Amino acid sequence: KLITNWFRKSTWSGRYINFYSNHPLKYRINTIYNLIDHAFLLSDDCFKQENIKLVYDTLLNNCFPEHIIHRHIRKRINFLNNRDRNDTVDVNSTDPDKTHFISVPYVENTSQDLYRLLRNSGFNVIYKVTKKLNNLIRCGKDSLHNNDKTSVVYKLYCNDCNLSYIGQTKRHLRTRVKEHCNNIKLHESNHSVISKHRLESGHDFDWSKPHILHNEKYVSKREIACMFFIKRFKNLINLQKDTDSLNNIY
Ligand SMILES: [Zn+2]
Repeated sequence: KLITNWFRKSTWSGRYINFYSNHPLKYRINTIYNLIDHAFLLSDDCFKQENIKLVYDTLLNNCFPEHIIHRHIRKRINFLNNRDRNDTVDVNSTDPDKTHFISVPYVENTSQDLYRLLRNSGFNVIYKVTKKLNNLIRCGKDSLHNNDKTSVVYKLYCNDCNLSYIGQTKRHLRTRVKEHCNNIKLHESNHSVISKHRLESGHDFDWSKPHILHNEKYVSKREIACMFFIKRFKNLINLQKDTDSLNNIY
């Protein structure tokens, strides 16, 4: 003889709908029935007692009140025991007249009244539980912070005057801005226009908020876009030679 028992995966957490969560009572009671069905139908008689105890403890852990657990476990076991005797009665069979389904949001108290009303009018009511966590917490990716973007034409502002610098990079903007910031530590002969402006005027740049003017992954197009912006904007510390290769027709 084959002896079977209710098998639970190693990842089984014992977590079900919390009794006090905003779900229709019917669904919460169904949790009890489903667990009992598993514990009872999948297992040999010798395991049943043990399994029902497990269901009981599991439900307690999910905040089901004791009297509710007791009542519905008993009810379900009675149902399962009698099921074989009156096999012809299928509890899940739908009344042929009640084939219209209607889906309504679940609102505690109100929904039960609505349920009775709709059912009497011949509708099968399905509840939608709308207050789900993912409606409150947006799961989409956060848009990248400017500093994490790559392949951009950017503008760096002087904190202390109206001058700014326009450049382009294929790397993370953060990396390029850091280079600009640290350039001043190099020997004078390697100083950038930014470092020169800082040394000559005692000004400093707003390293934390580079402005992105354009996004272009192809280097040649990005260089042209960069030169285009340098031509267009005033008050830049960029050298004229930065745009030399840009034909005047741009
Ligand atoms: Zn300045």
